[in-house]
Amino acid sequence: MLDQPIVNLKGVGPALAAKLARINLHTVQDLLFHLPIRYEDRTRLTPISQLRVGVPSQIQGNVIDARLEPGKKRSLLVKLRDQEGEVGLRYYYYTAQLKSRFTPGRKIKAYGEPRLGRSGLEIYHPETELLDVTKPIEMETEYSPIYPVTEGVQQKRMRELCQQALQLMKRTPAHDWLPPGVLGELRLPELNEALTAIHHPPLDANLQALAEGRAPGQQRLAVEEMIAHHLSLLKLRHKLQQSKAAVLNQGREAVFNFIEGLPFALTKAQQRVIEEIRRDIETPVPMLRLVQGDVGSGKTVVACCAALHAVASGYQAALMAPTEILAEQHYRNLQQWLAFMDIRVQWLGGKMKTRERKQIQDEIRQGDAQVIIGTHALFQESVEFDRLGLVIIDEQHRFGVHQRLALRSKGERSGQVPHQLIMTATPIPRTLAMSAYADLDTSVIDELPPGRTPVTTAAIPDTRRVEVINRVEDIIRQNRQVYWVCTLIEESEVLQCQAAEATATELQEALPGVRVGLVHGRLKSPEKEQIMGAFKRGELDLLVATTVIEVGVDVANATLMVIENPERLGLAQLHQLRGRVGRGAQESFCLLLYHPPLSETAKARLQVLRESNDGFIIAEKDLEIRGPGEVLGTRQTGLIQFRIADLQRDQNWLPIVKRIAQRLSNDHLAAEGLIARWLGQCAEYGQV
Ligand code: ADP
Ligand code: MG
Repeated sequence: MLDQPIVNLKGVGPALAAKLARINLHTVQDLLFHLPIRYEDRTRLTPISQLRVGVPSQIQGNVIDARLEPGKKRSLLVKLRDQEGEVGLRYYYYTAQLKSRFTPGRKIKAYGEPRLGRSGLEIYHPETELLDVTKPIEMETEYSPIYPVTEGVQQKRMRELCQQALQLMKRTPAHDWLPPGVLGELRLPELNEALTAIHHPPLDANLQALAEGRAPGQQRLAVEEMIAHHLSLLKLRHKLQQSKAAVLNQGREAVFNFIEGLPFALTKAQQRVIEEIRRDIETPVPMLRLVQGDVGSGKTVVACCAALHAVASGYQAALMAPTEILAEQHYRNLQQWLAFMDIRVQWLGGKMKTRERKQIQDEIRQGDAQVIIGTHALFQESVEFDRLGLVIIDEQHRFGVHQRLALRSKGERSGQVPHQLIMTATPIPRTLAMSAYADLDTSVIDELPPGRTPVTTAAIPDTRRVEVINRVEDIIRQNRQVYWVCTLIEESEVLQCQAAEATATELQEALPGVRVGLVHGRLKSPEKEQIMGAFKRGELDLLVATTVIEVGVDVANATLMVIENPERLGLAQLHQLRGRVGRGAQESFCLLLYHPPLSETAKARLQVLRESNDGFIIAEKDLEIRGPGEVLGTRQTGLIQFRIADLQRDQNWLPIVKRIAQRLSNDHLAAEGLIARWLGQCAEYGQV
């Protein structure tokens, strides 16, 4: 019954069905799960004198005046009065017909959100209805759900369709995949009850809770959605574990020698994580491990040990980084570390000449290249590996899930999937890691190498730019080096580079004796490398850069970083940028040169950065302030979006969700039912 197409409903023709299909509404069940985004209370009238700014309300009153008001944009202002108060209704878009409705003396019902306007309390573009003075005012008898709609489908129509679906559900209930035992444990309503309460909230429902998505019916669906999500991850994981991976159980001696040869001792945390990885990859079950470690915690060494095991066991290892600069740095490090062991490390850049690329691809295919480092160029179809045993992905959050899987499939030629190691410097808050990355095991490098001095951070308005430039000069006079980072709100690389160029010119003029360098994303790799190299060797004092330097560079003598317009960047990104200084023993500084006025949120965020140097704390705070979607950059990463659940609001459910999903995963029908209901065609989203 609920599976039937929407066209079967009363009043729905093919044209309407097509419009609904645009927002993925195909069946009656889809309508049931098409949930209101908010609710309006039109069950009662609010006396005009009791209107409050920001609280949407329904009022009635007599028109006392309607006139056009001049201004930047002309508007129609209608004055409405009831027994005790007066309010303005303001329209910036109006027709003569609309104006003619508001003849003085007429009685009108209006709904909208009051705010403080030019004439005092005003409602912009309220919905209005002319009242017949001879009849009692008609009122809604229940809260009005407001649904997401699409062009050509009116709110009223959508509401009516959802009510029809609800009627059908009364006759043939929707199947509740959560067993009664589970529901009892959760103390949440049964599915049909929940859906009814959501589409049709009773008058005694808590409007506040409904608005926040905390009403029991909404919570029940949120929990179900999280369970479905978790089940799909378990399924992906299960599928992965049924495939075979290479047994990388050789190379203990090589790793030992490598570590002995390093100019420093590994931290306990590094040793622990190296061991965790080793235990994973020496079995034929594919590893899927996320290594989280703050900027500078020494993840590269850990990756190198894993690669050594792969090579010693007769396999290739691929290391992929998000930018050319970072990939190049990895290449240089690993080459230097591994060369004396006679391991062939190869680099596959994105901008190589065809001939060179072809030759390297041959080496990769024939297995001559043992450790291959590159950017997403490694994903390309033309790249074939001989025996790919291990894939290491640095800075996971910049890659999509699909890219991750693309590289994994590279090993399938040999009938084996490679082990996967994912490294991120953006600590993912526990709560998020549990859900968004439920398919991964996690290791944490929760210790920095000794001898690092924390960076002192200050936020300074750009009205004090001159002072900041003087500070730069001071530092350089002490023979230290400085980064000056330019950010731009537009997603345009060109504009960002131009801004950086202008800044470099400005700074050069202000600081004549100073050697200024400039790097941005539009420079060719050799140029970039040359400038970075000069900065590294101390031949440049001041490096003006776009955010391309976020990852990669390691210059211990740089002790000041100025970040322009830090309010434009995410906290995690700022933390990463700041990680470029404080690499040596000297005290380092980070100046956040912001453009006032700052919003409250922006202030709170910069405050977090000033108070903490701990990536995990920063990530947790970022989550509190911004919410999970933005923190994970869901859109970019291809991670799933929840429809109802909100990881922050609903995080207390996560441990229970995990437990129930675990239990339900043995119930094939229920698991599939839930996945189909909530993830639909994205059920295999990992493969999208
Ligand atoms: P990240 O975790 O940010 O990728 P890197 O691997 O780039 O950090 O390491 C940062 C710097 O610290 C490198 O110069 C690296 O050689 C050095 N390093 C790594 N581990 C240690 C350690 N245990 N003691 C001292 N320095 C270390
Ligand atoms: Mg790194």
